[in-house]
Amino acid sequence: MNIIYKAVIFLIFWIASSNVFADGDFVASSNVDFIHYKAELEPDFQAQSVSGKVHIEFVAKVKNVEQLTFPAKFKTIYSVKINNITTANHIEDERLIVTFKEPLQVNKTYLLTVDYQSLPERGMKFYDDHLFTVYHTKNWLVSHNTIADKASFELLLTHDSQLTSAGNGRLISKRVKRGNKVISHWLQDSPIPIYTFGFALGEFEEIKTTHGNSHLSYLYRKNSKSGLHPQKIKDVFIDVPDMIEFFENKAGFSLPNKSYQYVVVEGYMAQEATGFSLVGEKYVHTALEDKNENWFIAHELAHEWWGNSITCANFSHFWLNEGLVQFLVAAYKQHLFGNSAYKQEIGVAIARVNRAVQKDKISPVAFKHQIKEQSINRTMAYSKGALIFYMLRNKLGEEIFWSALKHYSMKNKQSSVTTDDLKKAFEKVSKQDLTHFFNRWVYGKEIPKLSL
Ligand SMILES: [Zn+2]
Repeated sequence: MNIIYKAVIFLIFWIASSNVFADGDFVASSNVDFIHYKAELEPDFQAQSVSGKVHIEFVAKVKNVEQLTFPAKFKTIYSVKINNITTANHIEDERLIVTFKEPLQVNKTYLLTVDYQSLPERGMKFYDDHLFTVYHTKNWLVSHNTIADKASFELLLTHDSQLTSAGNGRLISKRVKRGNKVISHWLQDSPIPIYTFGFALGEFEEIKTTHGNSHLSYLYRKNSKSGLHPQKIKDVFIDVPDMIEFFENKAGFSLPNKSYQYVVVEGYMAQEATGFSLVGEKYVHTALEDKNENWFIAHELAHEWWGNSITCANFSHFWLNEGLVQFLVAAYKQHLFGNSAYKQEIGVAIARVNRAVQKDKISPVAFKHQIKEQSINRTMAYSKGALIFYMLRNKLGEEIFWSALKHYSMKNKQSSVTTDDLKKAFEKVSKQDLTHFFNRWVYGKEIPKLSL
């Protein structure tokens, strides 16, 4: 009995431990592929709400799909239609459950239309003269919640004619709707991760410029509110064309969208969307005083390639978005300011990791099983993640490291990735087996002792 008991315990332990370094990273598969979203929305500054309709195009990938579920927190649902016919729906545990009369046909495209209102406590910020969405798309848009399943996005935003909007992709029209209301029509025609859907709207001033084929635009609040004026905006964003060239060179492909906007909003904010990012006035003023503080401009822009085009398949591989971008900001600073700036950025990452060690907040950087967003250890994903790229660069040397990064980037353009995709790309170019390196530093908890 005792021997059997021990054998069972050993077997459980063996399965559990062998699981840690099992072959390949786990990626959940979905029953449905979401293809395109078209949202017709009108925000209300007073009510701090947004209302309208979303039309979602999707395809069933497996047989017997009879229901679809969407996060419903903060929302009131008025009607749900499938291919223009009203369909049964109910709310349960803050989820909208849509039930179809008969199972969906595999590979057929369906159109789901939801008429709703949302009062998002998170995911949108409202001020008296501007508003914007931030990261939590599911809170303001009825939408799926899988980051690996990218979709294209079209937004018809109804707003007062004196306001200026920013959105994903490009503004394809602006027409009068009624009285002083206009509709700004934004179209992002290549698929993007759901958390990068978004828009901003406000009494913005705008500076437009071009760089090669790229259209750049900077939106900021009036001088009386923001303390900013055209020269200050030009000064703070002066290196953006150089940043674009630097990241294009490292990725091996050009800026994914032909246009890019920075929206300077109140307070502290640094959040990428696709085709634009939100940056806080506080950061802009700091960077105007000390050019070395321009990290947020490079960081959010770098996400156009790493994050928005090449997206982690789930939160177990979040470091492929954030650790890599942190490292690339350090590399950009090295290019712009010299070696000491690179060392300074890497030094900041080392200090952050050391603080996490002191607080006993250590975890692996990536996981072979799927973790939830709340379980992300941000210091490990951002800072230890950046250090792993720093170590790979030292280990492989300049030429191999950058060509491996370019190979990884070009191969996974407009895709979703796991850590294994990065490992394979670096192994192919370097002709080295990096299993031990990845198991020790990425999937393992060990903290490297680095001196600069
Ligand atoms: Zn980031």
